[in-house]
Amino acid sequence: MTRRSLQLGPAGSGCQICISMAAPDEAGLMRGLAAATGADLIEVRLDALTEPLSCGGHFFRALQSRAPAPVGFTCRPVWEGGRFKGAEGERRALLERAARSGAAFVDIEQDADWAEAFIADSSVPVILSHHWQAPRPVDLEERAERMRAAGPAIAKLVTPAMTPADAIPLLAAGAELMARGQPTAAFCLGAAGSASRVLAVSQGAALIYAAQPIGESVAAGQWRAEVLRDELLLPRWRPGFSCCALAGDPIDHSLSPAIFNATFAVLEQPIGYLPIAFTELDPVLDLAEAQGLRGISVTMPFKEAAVRRCAELDPMAAAMGAVNTLVRSGQGWRGYNTDAGAIVSALSDVVEISRSRVAIFGAGGAARAAAFALSAQGAAITLCNRTRPRVDDLARQVGGRAASLEALTTDHYDIIINATPIGMAGRTEDPPMPFPAGWLRGDEVVLDLVYRPRQTALLRHAADRGCTVVEGLEMFVRQAAQQYRLWVGGDSAAPLDIMRRAAEKALQRG
Ligand code: NAP
Repeated sequence: MTRRSLQLGPAGSGCQICISMAAPDEAGLMRGLAAATGADLIEVRLDALTEPLSCGGHFFRALQSRAPAPVGFTCRPVWEGGRFKGAEGERRALLERAARSGAAFVDIEQDADWAEAFIADSSVPVILSHHWQAPRPVDLEERAERMRAAGPAIAKLVTPAMTPADAIPLLAAGAELMARGQPTAAFCLGAAGSASRVLAVSQGAALIYAAQPIGESVAAGQWRAEVLRDELLLPRWRPGFSCCALAGDPIDHSLSPAIFNATFAVLEQPIGYLPIAFTELDPVLDLAEAQGLRGISVTMPFKEAAVRRCAELDPMAAAMGAVNTLVRSGQGWRGYNTDAGAIVSALSDVVEISRSRVAIFGAGGAARAAAFALSAQGAAITLCNRTRPRVDDLARQVGGRAASLEALTTDHYDIIINATPIGMAGRTEDPPMPFPAGWLRGDEVVLDLVYRPRQTALLRHAADRGCTVVEGLEMFVRQAAQQYRLWVGGDSAAPLDIMRRAAEKALQRG
């Protein structure tokens, strides 16, 4: 059996980014194609057209000539979750017309009676696909094997996911097919499945489908092509890359994927980094364990919950009861808190911490890291928070004191830290400053943990009054650099500058 491979990129170029496009008419498709930058391939869903059967050679050639990348076609029938309601003979004839008119590929369903004959006769590469309606199907292995036997250019297996862990069997089936030489795209649909699309790439998937630039995504959970290309740097990922991930919710605006992928690229590490947003931590860690992920950055709201998944805890993380970094070890996960070390490291560049008087605003996770880290360095901690019981508790744990906000007007502090989100871009409901600028004397060191924007109102006012200021971005970069060292090892000075530059670039992108 001859297998037409879908090798449109340079040899060894890894996974290809395929934008899926759907529009009711040719004009809509043309508008989408004009905006479809950053793709290696484009897939057009003929079943989304109002009149798919009227598409002739002229239509297919016009699309090819205007598209920024080779275009392939599919026409999903209603019985496979698509919109095409016509006869099977008409559908097959339509896809044959597309193939004769220069399609880069055609995607057909495994359950079409004519699928095997189509593959045998086709002059263009054929993607053979199956879309299950429910997660974790029982016939997964059997169907995957039949697909391989049919000899398509790419075998495509798709299930919905209710949690990220639903992708585990599908990714295993995809890996098995690829190990047996069958190019494959096996991934899950839905927001909970979006991580599986990228993890599939790390194990050698031939294609990843990206969202169309105009209108709604063709399938839930698709990434934007520019995020895949510019933030995850997917074109450099190769089969066998190991992965690290960010677990949290929400994490849409996190800088971590851009920073880590840029750093892994510059230092030529065969590692990729992806965000996995989900409302619960356990299914994310179940997926991470099944896929052998090397490490996890843990962020809100999971820093406390992650502790109980750790087989071992670093002493600072154990004292704080919060981890922001998981490292895979033989026994399970080892938990660390790199926020604590980063606060100490960023401040020690400008001030002697030991015996300093420190005022911390906030009593959440970041305030907790600051209070534990700085009290361990011998600083005297005062905590101020808008609500009281939480701050009393934290003050007791670090041997500090809780005070009202107005403490700043009567007592003098060497270091003042904003560990609330006040000042963060987009939080219009908050006051612009955690406290009035006039309360600053001008000789304090002021650290604002907020890093979007980089120059907060607090930092601007503090600098105007003569204070030494430390940006939240500096702490962010230092905690990320420490995560890098925990996952990769090596020279402790290595990634700081690279990460700082990557963070600045990502902030400029918005
Ligand atoms: P968190 O656990 O949700 O705690 C937020 C704290 O801020 C709570 O004490 C909360 O008070 C207080 N707060 C929230 N809104 C407030 C308002 N409008 N007025 C007064 N107080 C308010 O969050 P977190 O993880 O500690 O993060 C806090 C900030 O630090 C965020 O902006 C985060 O992005 C930043 N951060 C930066 C880094 C870095 O590397 N630079 C690392 C971690 C966090 P209640 O207790 O009364 O709710």
